[in-house]
Amino acid sequence: MSDVERITVLSGGMGGAKFLQGLLHGIAAGILPGVSPDAEVTVVANTADDLWVHGLKVCPDLDTVMYTLGDGIDPERGWGRREETWSVREELTAYGVDNTWFGLGDRDVATHLVRTQMLEAGYPLSAVTRALCERWQPGVRLLPMTDDRVETHVAVTDEEAPSGRRVVHFQEYWVRLRAGVPAEAVVVVGLEQSTPGPGVLEALRETDLVVLPPSNPVVSVGTILGVPGVRDALRDTPAPVVGLSPIVGGTHVRGMARQVLEAVGVEVGAGAVGRHYGARSAGGVLDGWLVDSRDADDVAAVREAGIACAAVPLMMTDHDATAAMAAAAVSLVLG
Ligand code: GDP
Ligand code: CA
Repeated sequence: MSDVERITVLSGGMGGAKFLQGLLHGIAAGILPGVSPDAEVTVVANTADDLWVHGLKVCPDLDTVMYTLGDGIDPERGWGRREETWSVREELTAYGVDNTWFGLGDRDVATHLVRTQMLEAGYPLSAVTRALCERWQPGVRLLPMTDDRVETHVAVTDEEAPSGRRVVHFQEYWVRLRAGVPAEAVVVVGLEQSTPGPGVLEALRETDLVVLPPSNPVVSVGTILGVPGVRDALRDTPAPVVGLSPIVGGTHVRGMARQVLEAVGVEVGAGAVGRHYGARSAGGVLDGWLVDSRDADDVAAVREAGIACAAVPLMMTDHDATAAMAAAAVSLVLG
């Protein structure tokens, strides 16, 4: 078997970033079967969570990947900068300025200032991301899924609204409402008109392995797959495509995958999510799918759908455990 030299990962924020840490650890330690210790990783990141806050462009998933891999993340929160201070937020609150639900830390604000300034000078998000990564050196090539503005919105029940429902930005659903009210629908504004960012399709076609980490299948991986051209590139790529379930034991580990899966009518189960992605041989995107050991009962149905499947521990408790998950994913499709 020839060595895997290039790996492409479609990532959301926290789940994707944690997986990438373990993957890079596994590559460097040479414990991924058939993967060169010098293998290069390209990350296509979700940008549909992006939002404007106080005139600043914030890209939560890009930043979570960049800070996590660049060792700038707050390890307890899993988002934002470590050793953060909150003077800007306090001052804004003192002015009675709205939108204090989105906590912009002082250190984090610098990232958004640089990004916004570059965007306003005419640089596309992909170039801005490259520039930010020069500081953070994340050890991967980090590509926004698109340079276009795409925003996930969630319809929620609101008895006070005349129609009985209200549409909020995804971040408002997640951060302010804490995904505590049922999501009735997920609408990704601008997705169908978007085009893949520079290098995205090439990263899917010219690679030795594509990995769908245990990121949210609707609002992280789902939006990336919805960028016109991405799904076709995955179907046609000569490289195998393997995914890891973000649903363990019938619910998400953290986050709100359960709520958004219910909103799009997909059963909240490890096997069901694999079948939702579908087999490449049947027009879907997967060759292989890993479920957690406690979801071993799902394996047969996934295989029946034409997808190679195995049950292994899928909790990203530390880098070694996560690297072992990555190794199992590689073996499933290349072993
Ligand atoms: P977000 O953009 O910050 O929401 O992050 P992602 O979309 O990349 O990942 C969120 C998903 O990661 C959640 O829906 C969880 O189900 C999943 N997740 C988090 N921790 C773990 C873990 O230890 N194991 C598995 N299998 N999934 C996890
Ligand atoms: Ca996200």
